[in-house]
Amino acid sequence: MSQTNKVNIGDKLRDDKKVRTIAKEEADRPYLRKPDWIRVKLPNISKMTQVKDTIHSNKLHTVCEEASCPNLSECFGHGTATFMILGDICTRRCAFCDVAFGRPGAIDPMEPANLAATVADMGLKYVVVTSVDRDDLPDAGAGHFANCIRAIRKRTPNVLIEILTPDFRPCLDKALNILIETPPDVFNHNVETVPRLYKSIRPGARLEHSLTLLQRYKVARPDIPTKSGLMVGLGETDDEVIELLQMMRDHNIDRITIGQYLQPSKHHAPVMRYVHPDTFAEYARIGHDMGFEHVASGPMVRSSYHADLQNAGIDVGKSQSE
Ligand code: SF4
Repeated sequence: MSQTNKVNIGDKLRDDKKVRTIAKEEADRPYLRKPDWIRVKLPNISKMTQVKDTIHSNKLHTVCEEASCPNLSECFGHGTATFMILGDICTRRCAFCDVAFGRPGAIDPMEPANLAATVADMGLKYVVVTSVDRDDLPDAGAGHFANCIRAIRKRTPNVLIEILTPDFRPCLDKALNILIETPPDVFNHNVETVPRLYKSIRPGARLEHSLTLLQRYKVARPDIPTKSGLMVGLGETDDEVIELLQMMRDHNIDRITIGQYLQPSKHHAPVMRYVHPDTFAEYARIGHDMGFEHVASGPMVRSSYHADLQNAGIDVGKSQSE
C-alpha cells in the first residue's frame, strides 16, 4: 500500500497502476475468443444520450460508465442507470473492476439532492444506488447512503430503492446501524467470486465478512430482501460455484445474480472460461432448489441488470439466451 502515499488526492489509477494481484503469466494468457452468446443489444442512441446528459448535468456518476458495463447501451436506452455515489475513486484494487483506484476527495454534500432530482427527472420507478469503497471515511460511506435514501424518498415517495453497498469492513457495526435505521427496499452486496480466488481477485475483502454483513442485515431487518451477486469465468470450477451458492443460502440471502466476467483491460484478471448459457440455466435450477427467492443467471447478467424486473421476479437471465 505504500504506493498510496505517492498518490495525490484525486489522482485516478487504472489498469496496471491499479491491479497488483494478477501474476504476469496469468495476465499474459492468450485471449479466449468471445463466443456468440456474449453479445450487446443495439442501443437507442437518442435515449442513451438523453440519459447521459441528465446524469452529467446533475454532477452524478454511474457504475455503468465507471466500470465499463457491457449492458450500458441497453440500460441507458431503456432510461435506467445505476448511480455510483461517494465519488469515482475507490480505495480498493479489485482485479476485475475498471473503476479508478486512489485517494478519494471529500464527499459532495449536494449529491443526495442531485440524485433525488435526477431520479425524479428520469421518471424512474426503481433505482439502484451503489458506490466505490471508501475505507477512508469514519462510517465507510454508510451515512451518505442513508442521506441519499432519505432524499429520494422525500422527493419521490413511491420509488423503490435498491442499494448495492461496499463491505464496510472498517466499521461494520456503525454502518449496519445506520442502514438498519434508514433501510432501502432491497439490500444488496456482491460476494463476487469463490473463496479460493479472493486473494487475487478481491484483495482487501473477505468472503466471510461479506456474508456476515448480509446475514446480520437480514436478522436485523427480516422485512427487507437481501441480494448478492457473483461472476464466473475467473478460474472457479462449477463445484466451487455451487458450494458458494450454498454458503450464500446458509447466510439467508434471498436473491442472487450470476453473470459472465468480462475483462476490462489486458491488465485486469484474464477470462479463464466462457460459461455456456446451459450452465447458467443449471446454476439457476440449483439455486431455486436451494430455496433462493430469485435467481438471475445468464452471460450478461449483472447485479443491477434490469433490477426492477428482477425485483418483480422476472427471469432476466433467460431472456438473454433466447
Ligand atoms: S470495491 Fe467495488 S468499485 Fe472498488 S475496485 Fe472493488 S469492485 Fe471496483
